[in-house]
Amino acid sequence: EEAAAAGAFWRHAHVDAEALERRLVLMGELDQAIADGEIEVHYQPKLALATDRVASAEALVRWRHPTRGMIRPDLFIPLAEQADRIGALTLHVLARAVADLADWRARGHDVSVAINLSAMLIAEPAFSAAVDTLLDSGAVPPDRLIFEVTESATLADPERAAAQLRHFRAKGVAISMDDYGTGQSTLTYIRELPLSELKIDRSFVQHAHLNPADALMVRSTIDLAQGLGLKVVAEGIEEPGCLALLRDAGCDLVQGYLIGRPMVADAFVATLEQRAAA
Ligand code: C2E
Ligand code: CA
Ligand code: CA
Ligand code: CA
Repeated sequence: EEAAAAGAFWRHAHVDAEALERRLVLMGELDQAIADGEIEVHYQPKLALATDRVASAEALVRWRHPTRGMIRPDLFIPLAEQADRIGALTLHVLARAVADLADWRARGHDVSVAINLSAMLIAEPAFSAAVDTLLDSGAVPPDRLIFEVTESATLADPERAAAQLRHFRAKGVAISMDDYGTGQSTLTYIRELPLSELKIDRSFVQHAHLNPADALMVRSTIDLAQGLGLKVVAEGIEEPGCLALLRDAGCDLVQGYLIGRPMVADAFVATLEQRAAA
């Protein structure tokens, strides 16, 4: 909650000279932070309900700042986007995630990794060229990568964004619609984009076991998406009652604090190993 409030504060920092100052200082530090290894990637498990196995991990970036402590992405991602540093940051996250995934695969764990792609990056030629180089490097099979995009991601230039996503999809990368239900024109996007997966936003999921209207929306979204051949992920599972509802509704994958919080790579691989041994 605190981090979300701070995120809102920073996004509206133009009203406050001191905040603007801090924001510029922070962005000035970002490139150096990448070079110094302060940017970490944590992983949150996505559990497949049919098999009860961890099918994938969502890569979530954190900034371990030497004086400000751990900075959450809601705070610095919007700044990195405004300051034109989101491409470098995302490539750093992607390279780290690919290296960690290669390590897990070498240990015999056949999982996938999901990366969050900012709206503005999808149709950015320099970014996609760098992604192609990584996909073609052979470090991991591209079909073990998932790109999570939001509905707003495609608003600026829908045709170009769709073409770029089809390009990644043709290389084997799965495309996931993130935060589903919070954007606009959702049915158009589902029809036009080369999606493999749909993630129902946690605002619909979190209280679905307590709120019949939320439950109805979750269930009908699962039916719609599966009818179109998409896998469905429910995010923000915190309560056993909520998990039971998602199981009953036939949801494919679940993600949330009840299953596992975002964790460092070593902790994630330990989770995989415990589950494999169990
Ligand atoms: P998101 O993609 O919707 O990621 C899910 C967020 O929900 C994560 O917050 C995660 O820690 C949190 N979460 C997971 N399970 C639960 C739960 O059960 N309850 C609650 N209350 N929260 C849960 P996080 O890590 O702070 O990331 C926030 C947002 O920052 C992400 O939202 C994503 O939009 C963005 N982000 C994170 N990493 C990256 C990145 O590498 N690139 C870009 N472009 N955006 C990123
Ligand atoms: Ca996401
Ligand atoms: Ca999400
Ligand atoms: Ca979100």
